[in-house]
Amino acid sequence: MVEEYPRNLMELEASFASEAACRAYLARLRWPTGFRCPRCGSEKAWPVRSLWECGGCGCQTSVTAGTIFQDTRIPLPVWFRAMWWVTTQKNGASALGLQRVLGLKKYKAAWMMLHKLRRAMVRPGRDLLTGRVEVDECYVGGLEEGLPGRLNLEKALVVIAAQEDGPGIGRIRMRQIPDASAASLMPFVQDAVAPGSVIHTDGWPGYLPLGSKGYEHEVTFLKRKKKKTPSELMPRVHRVISLLKRWLIGTHQGAVSHKHLDYYLDEFTFRFNRRRSKNRGKLFFRLAQQAVAVDPVTYYRIVHQTSRKAKGKPQSVGAT
Ligand SMILES: [Zn+2]
Repeated sequence: MVEEYPRNLMELEASFASEAACRAYLARLRWPTGFRCPRCGSEKAWPVRSLWECGGCGCQTSVTAGTIFQDTRIPLPVWFRAMWWVTTQKNGASALGLQRVLGLKKYKAAWMMLHKLRRAMVRPGRDLLTGRVEVDECYVGGLEEGLPGRLNLEKALVVIAAQEDGPGIGRIRMRQIPDASAASLMPFVQDAVAPGSVIHTDGWPGYLPLGSKGYEHEVTFLKRKKKKTPSELMPRVHRVISLLKRWLIGTHQGAVSHKHLDYYLDEFTFRFNRRRSKNRGKLFFRLAQQAVAVDPVTYYRIVHQTSRKAKGKPQSVGAT
């Protein structure tokens, strides 16, 4: 699909004023080469009200089935305005801000929308980092930021990978982990970085298995007598860490619970990896595209459950 997006708020308002216009746009993003029935694979289908009816098996599919928009009571034009607002906020979005701009009665609704959109910011199976990548962990916490030792128990541990781009930083990935053991660190690296890449870490033993996982492992040991700090040895990942901490404190007042931290890490990653994009419309496009990118396993489950429930009746898939 040609990247099709509004260039400004006026265009957004004009193009996505109705439920039908939003659905048609989502359908182009979800099935860029045309509709394909999730049950029988048929490519013949016609629209029936807001659904697609398959010419092969007769089942009806909604373009929002299995996506963050499934079963929502909020009209799609409101969702589209939310996506626009989230992608045009330079530093990040808050539920309160979203509630105000959309004129929503309930804070809870804004909060829920924002969390769903954050979930869509990181696409499953996205490209892996390659080349040379710095990896390190850090603690992030709320008000106890900067206090020593014992209070670490109240902080969350986050592992971060930052791709080298000459002297600068390329793309990043991050994840909250329960501890800094190899059992926690290795799955993150394997999900984030392509095998064959060079991974630069400090001498922490949790990184030792990297060599046996298909990576070239470069270790920099911190020597007590030398005056170099960790941020000089791995400048990129430490720059990301300080930006992340500043963002959590600045935009979210540090008030992020561990339970929801992953959503915020996803939002930070989405914004950071697209920080050079001047075109906000492109960010909107990317977010909408990822919002309808459905994990096939989740989708299979939805189709399967619906077809069992709807025996004998016209079948519909997530018909909302
Ligand atoms: Zn079918």
